[in-house]
Amino acid sequence: MSLTPRHLLGIIGDPVEHSLSPAMHQAAFKKLELPFSYSKIHLKNKELKIFFSTLVASNYLGFNVTIPHKEAVLDYIDEFSDEAKLVGAVNTVKISENKIVGYNTDGQGYIEALKREKRFVVKGKKALILGAGGAARGLIAALALNGIKEIKVCNRSFERAQSLCKEFSKKFVKIKIVAIEWQKNYLAKILPKIDLVIQSTSLGLKGEEIPHFPWDKLSSKCLVTDIIYSPTPFLAEAKKRKFKTQNGLGMLLYQGVLAFEIWTDKKAPILVMKKALKEALLHKLSKN
Ligand code: NDP
Repeated sequence: MSLTPRHLLGIIGDPVEHSLSPAMHQAAFKKLELPFSYSKIHLKNKELKIFFSTLVASNYLGFNVTIPHKEAVLDYIDEFSDEAKLVGAVNTVKISENKIVGYNTDGQGYIEALKREKRFVVKGKKALILGAGGAARGLIAALALNGIKEIKVCNRSFERAQSLCKEFSKKFVKIKIVAIEWQKNYLAKILPKIDLVIQSTSLGLKGEEIPHFPWDKLSSKCLVTDIIYSPTPFLAEAKKRKFKTQNGLGMLLYQGVLAFEIWTDKKAPILVMKKALKEALLHKLSKN
């Protein structure tokens, strides 16, 4: 049993230096006068086992998990939230009654950002996800849990998209979840009926373009989103073409809001967290 109060929080990853999460959580603790401290914890894969073995007896209340550990941590966790079970990955951990509990707030963070910042409700809509990696898993689960009608998944490796769609079709039998090949003519066929585009590949982080995207087929009412939070050529093109857009900063904010509420059982000071996140991003971009 831990003899000292749990006041430590943080984010584990490799690399982790780029993370903006400390800025938003520290600002929230300050606003609510909570005696917590949030730091970056650089952990290599081989260091996970020892880190987790010391947790219950430590001062940690919890932490976030980022690339590349979101799946690797599953081996060390005692209990999972329904979302974490569905997604098969964890981005938030809480040490609760001496148990290590895993959550996944990424996908719901994306949905909250759509709702609160764009007044966009996913129920009954049709979405296209570009990418079939870890982030796409969380997005599919959250869209399905929030009543989406149809999801198309388009990925460079078609087999990966197919296997993802097969897995989630079994979990959500009433929702059409279909893989499509990443070719201009296939995309052109489906785009007119799409209400929401979600760019979830890592393309754009270093200014890379999204290939073969037939913009002229997209309905003018479609909301175009990118989960990368720094500026990307994909969102720049969408803006140029006068589509409504949303970048990944909202997803980052609301996954953090949900994690904060899991750890503290208090309502997160969203505006304070948003301001801190924006400032941290501007600072980061000014250094690049
Ligand atoms: P993964 O490594 O799990 O997946 C990467 C995806 O990008 C795969 O679909 C991969 O396709 C695709 N991809 C990579 N390189 C290329 C390329 N050259 N051409 C075409 N497709 C490519 O990463 P994640 O899913 O975890 O993360 C994806 C992005 O989302 C990252 O940029 C990350 O920063 C961002 N993200 C943002 C969050 C937020 O809060 N805003 C939260 C989580 C992630 P293939 O399968 O063919 O390799």
